Amino acid sequence: MKAQPKASHFIDGEYVEDTAGAAFDSLYPATGEVIATLHAATPAIVEKAIAAAKRAQPEWAAMSPTARGRILKRAADIMRERNRELSELETLDTGKPIQETIVADPTSGADAFEFFGGIAASALNGDYIPLGQDFAFTKRVPLGVCVGIGAWNYPQQIACWKGAPALICGNAMVFKPSENTPLGALKIAEILVEAGLPKGLYNVIQGDRMTGPLLVNHKDVAKVSLTGSVETGKKVAGAAASNLKHVTMELGGKSPLIVFDDADLESAIGGAMLGNFYSTGQVCSNGTRVFVQKGIKDKFLARLKERTEKIVIGDPMDEATQFGPMVSKAQLDKVFSYVEKGKAEGATLLTGGGIPNSVSSAGNYIQPTVFADVTDDMTIAREEIFGPVMCVLDFDSEDEVIARANATEFGLSAGVFTQDITRAHRVVDQLEAGTLWINAYNLAPVEVPFGGSKQSGFGRENSVAALSHYSELKSVYVAMGKVEAPY
Ligand code: NAD
Repeated sequence: MKAQPKASHFIDGEYVEDTAGAAFDSLYPATGEVIATLHAATPAIVEKAIAAAKRAQPEWAAMSPTARGRILKRAADIMRERNRELSELETLDTGKPIQETIVADPTSGADAFEFFGGIAASALNGDYIPLGQDFAFTKRVPLGVCVGIGAWNYPQQIACWKGAPALICGNAMVFKPSENTPLGALKIAEILVEAGLPKGLYNVIQGDRMTGPLLVNHKDVAKVSLTGSVETGKKVAGAAASNLKHVTMELGGKSPLIVFDDADLESAIGGAMLGNFYSTGQVCSNGTRVFVQKGIKDKFLARLKERTEKIVIGDPMDEATQFGPMVSKAQLDKVFSYVEKGKAEGATLLTGGGIPNSVSSAGNYIQPTVFADVTDDMTIAREEIFGPVMCVLDFDSEDEVIARANATEFGLSAGVFTQDITRAHRVVDQLEAGTLWINAYNLAPVEVPFGGSKQSGFGRENSVAALSHYSELKSVYVAMGKVEAPY
């Protein structure tokens, strides 16, 4: 299987190569096969990308929002027409089953282009502020050159979730995908140009943690939006702060999912499984601490085990496969080390924890894993594993579970399953998280703001809220009379 792009980078409307950059292979996570070889950006490539963005941005900003929106909506249409092809590429890049990528990856990227393209004509208006005979008005203006840095779990979605609001506000973007998943963003850049985006406005360059700082520290960059771990977030936010750049931080989590004993059991189990095993557990907002009220604990665990053991693990390109490999060997090893810690610290391994039989031994596979009898102090309950490891903890009372759910430095997401609507609202009001669900988990439609609190980050993606993170207000005071000066 090959997915070699025409070149490593996409700058100023075309593919560009610079073989002086360190070569790296892109591996198919299901087999370990090399599917492409690319080169990390050299400083010259970084300069070229930022210069192209800087040159192209003013003319783009001068276009009407409606005209900008039309191009984004055309890009959304092209993405939907090519959903199969893009989803196969996403599956090769990430190892996620085609059953998922076909409904969740290019389509959610297309949703972002469609949504921001659609609101462009109305949501970028300013205000008129009457001041007696004088008045003021505000204008929403772009920031300039924005940098996007992506994680490897939703490469195409992240490229679009950052690109769409940045572009619609009149900015240009230089996007760096994760070195683990370099392929999808190049296609997004190609499609945007095909849809009519002027050259230089959406550039993609490759590289890793050595390349990122070249972008973040660049004097011509006005804003950095990162999706990544808390550790990287601290470095990137710190570097950006030294030049007072705007930042959006979409970081990690250890989110609580609370199941009260009146919950619809099958829905709660379904939510917990989706919130731990979708994308082989590589979802930032996953509800990895599943708090189950004691009265239903035994029933919950029995059905959870039964349903988890029926998950179809296999070749990600097979439409019947529900669960694929981890993105990389390094991530797989990290997850196995947490499984060992869980056992060593006394949690009960309910199911999984090993390598599935039915798959290529060269792939990065691990079984969907559930630990029961997990306590708050265990490492697996405190640290983000970023793999398919569900921790089930039990609780007695509402107040107790809220306090325990909030006892973490993270604050990305949280979920509550209960049939008592008053309790549901009371609990979500007290949970410290940016994105919450009642009787559902991990749904993130483009209309709804998405992002974290505490160490899970700041700023919001999606929805009208994202516009304020890619633009700023200019206030203009207009005097209608003579200036009255006391001197
Ligand atoms: P990571 O932090 O290792 O890398 C993220 C990106 O940052 C990569 O492109 C990497 O090359 C780059 N990078 C690393 N060091 C850098 C530096 N010093 N300066 C600039 N760029 C640098 O994260 P990952 O392993 O790719 O992704 C997993 C993490 O991402 C998890 O913690 C997960 O929770 C988080 N995540 C968050 C969200 C969200 O929306 N909140 C979504 C997906 C993933």
